[in-house]
Amino acid sequence: MKGILYVVSGPSGAGKSSMIKKALNVVDGFTFSVSYTTRAMRPGEKDGIDYNFISEEQFKKMEKNNEFLECAEVHGYYYGTGKEEIKNKLAEGYNIVLDVDVQGALNIKKVMADDTVLIFIAPPSYEELRRRLEGRGTENHKDLTKRLEDAHWELSKIYDFDYLIVNQNLNESINQLISIIIAEQLNINRIGQHLGKYKFFKQTFNER
Ligand code: 5GP
Repeated sequence: MKGILYVVSGPSGAGKSSMIKKALNVVDGFTFSVSYTTRAMRPGEKDGIDYNFISEEQFKKMEKNNEFLECAEVHGYYYGTGKEEIKNKLAEGYNIVLDVDVQGALNIKKVMADDTVLIFIAPPSYEELRRRLEGRGTENHKDLTKRLEDAHWELSKIYDFDYLIVNQNLNESINQLISIIIAEQLNINRIGQHLGKYKFFKQTFNER
């Protein structure tokens, strides 16, 4: 059975990456797709683990060669999702989680809506978003202001998503993310054509 692509998106500082890390410790059969970016590596980040850190020249070359499923300029830097790996892993039956900005999520929805679940992570308020961004201390004042400004447009796009999690309490939000992931795997519209593998199904529909 083909895998599902879970696209987790929302403003920077809403808590996406912490939630994804914790949720992926709980669910099986998943892989996280490591994006490409031109932004500088932060202290504690590892190349190939947090991102594939590349130069703007390398990024443009990959874009020209059509190697991205989607790519976007986000808060002043380039970010992109490698296409080949995603397509192969989904075909092999792996479920994939992506952490992308809202433009990226909407672009993925355009090109592969059927296999994709779009999950929006929102902060409880703009004040809380600012507090979290300031608290993590990874951006300078200019970058932080840009991220907060961009959050307005991003939050205006929630209706294009399938699910909304308001991340007020991290543990509760992680549980909600896990619930969405599992519920989608049990969705009859997704698994309908594979029901023949169950004995009850054969007994019900073939052996009358
Ligand atoms: P950060 O620089 O804080 O790691 O990420 C900034 C933003 O870029 C986040 O909202 C994150 O979701 C987004 N992002 C990370 N990887 C990708 C990607 O491959 N494509 C797009 N469109 N956005 C990404």
